[in-house]
Amino acid sequence: MALGFLAAALLVIGTNAVTFRTSARATQRVHQVQAQHEPLARVAQNLADTLADFDRAVLDHLERGGRVTESLVDDSAARLTHAAAAYADLVDGRAQYLDPGVLDVLLADYQRTARELVQLVERRHEAVRRYWRLFDKLDSELDARRDAAEATGDHVLSRRSIAELSAALDRIQDRLGSYILFAGPQAATEVTEGERAFRVALARHALEFEAVEGKAWFADLSRTFEGMIAERRAIVSLNALLGSGTRKFLESGAAIALRIRNELSEPARRALAASAEDASDTALAARESVATISVAGLVILLLISFATVISVTVPVRRLTRATLHIASGGARHAVNRGGIRELDGLAGAFNHMVAQLIAAERTVRGYQLQLEARVEERTRQLQHLAHHDPLTDLPNRRQLFLYLESLLRTAVDRSERVGLLFLDLDNFKTVNDSLGHEFGDKVLQAVGDRLRCAVSGRGFSARLGGDEFTIVCEGAQGVEDVEAIASATIAEFQQAVMVAGREITIGVSIGASVFPDHAEDAEALLRAADAALFRAKDLGRNRYSIFSRELLDLAAARFQTEQALRRAIEADEFELLYQPQVCFESGQVSAVEALLRWRRAGEAPLSPTEFLHVAEQSGLIAEISAWVLQKAAARAAQWYHNGWPDIRVAVNVSAKQLLDGALVEDLRHLLEKYSIPASCIEVELTENVLQTAPGTVEVLERLRDLGASVALDDFGTGYSSLTSLEQLPLDRIKIDRSLVMSVDTNARSAAIVRSIVGLSRSLGLKVTAEGVERVEQLAFLLGFRGIDVQGFLVASPLNADAVAGFVRGIGARLEDLLLETPEAAFDPNSTGSMVVRHLKAAAAGGDGQGTPSGSRRRRTG
Ligand code: C2E
Ligand code: MG
Ligand code: MG
Repeated sequence: MALGFLAAALLVIGTNAVTFRTSARATQRVHQVQAQHEPLARVAQNLADTLADFDRAVLDHLERGGRVTESLVDDSAARLTHAAAAYADLVDGRAQYLDPGVLDVLLADYQRTARELVQLVERRHEAVRRYWRLFDKLDSELDARRDAAEATGDHVLSRRSIAELSAALDRIQDRLGSYILFAGPQAATEVTEGERAFRVALARHALEFEAVEGKAWFADLSRTFEGMIAERRAIVSLNALLGSGTRKFLESGAAIALRIRNELSEPARRALAASAEDASDTALAARESVATISVAGLVILLLISFATVISVTVPVRRLTRATLHIASGGARHAVNRGGIRELDGLAGAFNHMVAQLIAAERTVRGYQLQLEARVEERTRQLQHLAHHDPLTDLPNRRQLFLYLESLLRTAVDRSERVGLLFLDLDNFKTVNDSLGHEFGDKVLQAVGDRLRCAVSGRGFSARLGGDEFTIVCEGAQGVEDVEAIASATIAEFQQAVMVAGREITIGVSIGASVFPDHAEDAEALLRAADAALFRAKDLGRNRYSIFSRELLDLAAARFQTEQALRRAIEADEFELLYQPQVCFESGQVSAVEALLRWRRAGEAPLSPTEFLHVAEQSGLIAEISAWVLQKAAARAAQWYHNGWPDIRVAVNVSAKQLLDGALVEDLRHLLEKYSIPASCIEVELTENVLQTAPGTVEVLERLRDLGASVALDDFGTGYSSLTSLEQLPLDRIKIDRSLVMSVDTNARSAAIVRSIVGLSRSLGLKVTAEGVERVEQLAFLLGFRGIDVQGFLVASPLNADAVAGFVRGIGARLEDLLLETPEAAFDPNSTGSMVVRHLKAAAAGGDGQGTPSGSRRRRTG
């Protein structure tokens, strides 16, 4: 296409060049011809003009005669000669023109003829003059004779003759002018008749005249008359010569003029005409060539345009069709190549795209098939999942309800009972928190397996979520059957299971409900079992409980407690009491334990055991724990900065609080805030927290690094083995009240406590005995060295403001207690035994020795 446009452009340029050259050549030719022939044409015209002038001057002269006309003839002759010379100069041997030599000869002849005519005219003029002189002489002679005759009256005859002669002469005179000039036949006849008449009269009267006038006169008269005739004849012959000369002159003038016209003017005119024609031809040719080339250019342009249109529209249409075809989802076909290079390239790219599309489609189809297979598989899995718990693969809540509903329908028909057991794993949250969720999941799977085995063939088990499971007991005859199954299940769970190579016993609490005794439908039946479960947990772990109407009231109360708890912090309903731990040997308060109370308007203060489980279940525990830690630290700071540098406040920490990671940082922050040493705080953890994972140990170590001490609370109720004490970074063991309770009555308890104390000692741990209520218990405990005592016997949990007073009176209080303590219970060798003996002796009035402390003195002082 570019070549086509180039060709068209070249054509246009070529057209212009050719046209320009042609017209330039034509112009040059015209100029040439004009330069050559135009002067000749001008000279020819001049020659013809001067020839005509000369002709006119000569004829004029012939007609009029005289010097003036003769000089005009001379002038015109000179001009003619000059024009001829100019012609000779210009013609310069051009063959088509009259030969200047020939022209000179012709003009010389012509001019000679003219000169001869001029001379003839002159001669005639002379002859005429002479004629008229003779005529006048004759006429005057006759007039004179007549006048003389009349005067004398003589010669009558003669007078008449003279009159006769005069009449003849007049007759001659009348005609002579025209005769002399024109010598017409009529005039000639009349003249000659007049002459004849004169001659006749002369002859007739010759004698008379000779007689009268004399012979001499008559002879003279006759000679004059004859001379006149001779002149007349000369004039006539001159006229004849003039006539013939004039004809010749006119003929040669006409011939020359003709030749000038034919051989000079005509060739020049023809040449000019030819050049004009040539120029017009050239212009025409140029126009034609322009027209031809324009047409050719137009054709080429049309062809190019057509080719362009074809080479653009056809491929574009092909591409458009193919694109629309593909866009409408049709089969992918390559388009034909062709068209201008860019469109051809585009078609190539399009085909490449189509190939890629086909490949991509194939791949997508493959993926789609895979995907469909996967979707099918997933749909199956989802359908399974929709009805099963993914972790344990037990039926889920939905499946439970479907099953239960259909079972209840058939049970109605058969008048059967259906029992529903609602199971909740004891302390599973702690397991999860301390051993990690992965481990917790494995425990749940183990529980699932156990339930599957347990109900195999005789019931249906499902997981509701978290650590909650259900067992449906079919075909039960009465509530007792359901109770038996619940009891058997609890027994089953007493067996340890292996989880991740670890033997673990996980207890279960069960709430049970029976259809139709407790509820009419599946939903209500589950609600009833849930309420019973709560009751079972309340009663202590590893228990089952059968639903009763009152449980619903309890559940409602629990709900209310939770709602009230949510508002408790803002309502400032919480309070911390502080229960002292004392050392009888040093007579000092070794620590105070912060114990939470919830005081609601118009109600008795609530112990944490009454609401902490609700707080834990509702998640409020975190907020409460933070409040407790902050208040305890603030109070410790108050005591520390007011003269109690050894103060140690023991704070109970929940498992969640320990493991959520913020405890150490929170504590550090509080220590900084209140500018107290970490030794002011002791963290108390319940024993089951320590069935734990590495996370617990790490937190304990960080606490220790911080400088806070850690006590293991309620020791002796949980599941940790004594050997685990060795692995944990602890400072203190607090022996649980349930053990202390019977140390004085139960040898087994006493033995356990003894071994705990011994073990703790050997591990370098301090010991606190909790729940000491009686002096007998104290007596037993004083049998050990350096044991701290906490319990109502020493002090109930005190209001913070009362603590200072208690500390001040501690010596007297301890002495009073020691005095009350039965000595018999003491090991006679123990420190306590010695102290008591001294005190008793002193009280009895003796001085005693070695009073253990200055308490008495302080009391009396
Ligand atoms: P604990 O840490 O073992 O605290 C000792 C509990 O025994 C206290 O009960 C205390 O009042 C009670 N007690 C002390 N001496 C005697 C006694 O001689 N006889 C009897 N029968 N009871 C005695 P309290 O205050 O009701 O606390 C119960 C439990 O609640 C605590 O047991 C502790 O585990 C928990 N607790 C208390 N305060 C908090 C707290 O602020 N945070 C957390 N997480 N738990 C707390
Ligand atoms: Mg405690
Ligand atoms: Mg305790």
